[in-house]
Amino acid sequence: AFLLFLFYLIEPVTSLVDAATQYQVGAAAIARIVEAERLETEDPGPVKDASGAVNRAAAVEFDEVRFRYREELPYVHHGVSFTVPGAGMTAFVGPSGAGKTTVFGLIERFYETSGGRILIDGRDIREWPLAELRASIGYVEQDAPVLSGTLRENLVFAAPDAGEDAVREVLVRARLDGLVDRLPDGLDTVVGHRGSKLSGGERQRVAIARALLRRPRLLLLDEATSQLDAVNEMALRDVVADVAREVTVLVVAHRLSTVTLADRIVVMDGGRVRAVGTHAELVERDPLYGELAATQFLASAPVVGEPRQAAGA
Ligand code: ADP
Ligand code: MG
Repeated sequence: AFLLFLFYLIEPVTSLVDAATQYQVGAAAIARIVEAERLETEDPGPVKDASGAVNRAAAVEFDEVRFRYREELPYVHHGVSFTVPGAGMTAFVGPSGAGKTTVFGLIERFYETSGGRILIDGRDIREWPLAELRASIGYVEQDAPVLSGTLRENLVFAAPDAGEDAVREVLVRARLDGLVDRLPDGLDTVVGHRGSKLSGGERQRVAIARALLRRPRLLLLDEATSQLDAVNEMALRDVVADVAREVTVLVVAHRLSTVTLADRIVVMDGGRVRAVGTHAELVERDPLYGELAATQFLASAPVVGEPRQAAGA
């Protein structure tokens, strides 16, 4: 009986690991999925706003959230509070280790808070059925995997029922329609091991398109820290601005082009929110923000085609 128990325990994990090998998904991502499956779900029931309509853009609130990854580890969030109304774009900035990515992990309920509350549309996320919570969120992780296989397979991976029209629509929204036209077999082009046939900027937008295909009400985007060329930087900026018109977008931002676009910026440091404001406001009144803007934000790359200035010229 014990062996049988062990088999049941190990079986789902091994099949996930197989899937991971097959699809080149990171081990960390799989560990989180396995962890998440352990969390209990509660009563199902569709989430509607006061008028009874299913609201497209989710409002998000952190209320004095405290969190540590394990009991023996120090706290990573020491009472994090912020409010994001529905729609629009909110950027999270701060030094490495400030707790920005952890905000996203907590919203997805990959982990449980040890204090405070996280509310979506005014409702504690612990009261949401987990599947419904996850279905309303599109999460583009910092190094979101592009799987081996075709571009189409990459997109429908998490939305197998998506029709051709829906796929075409997200391609346009993610500014990938031009790329598809250039690929030899269009959507059925094999994009290669870990998407190596795509540029970094294109990979990021494939991950965004994949998230959009599930029609989320909240998009979480953990920007890659790598530099993008001017064309890809502008494409990312346009995509984010567009999506934020309809759904709530939270971005862990490393780019000047992203923070200047944000409706509000949450500056985090050492597991606390130290300031909230627009880029112009924060440059004026928050010294840490000024420092980040000067040192950490990746400035836009020069416009393609512009001749590089020779050294000493
Ligand atoms: P940021 O995204 O702002 O760089 P993170 O939210 O990733 O910061 O991390 C905040 C702190 O939590 C860091 O000290 C980091 O080392 C720690 N941390 C992040 N993920 C884990 C984890 N899975 N297990 C334990 N500690 C973690
Ligand atoms: Mg991070």
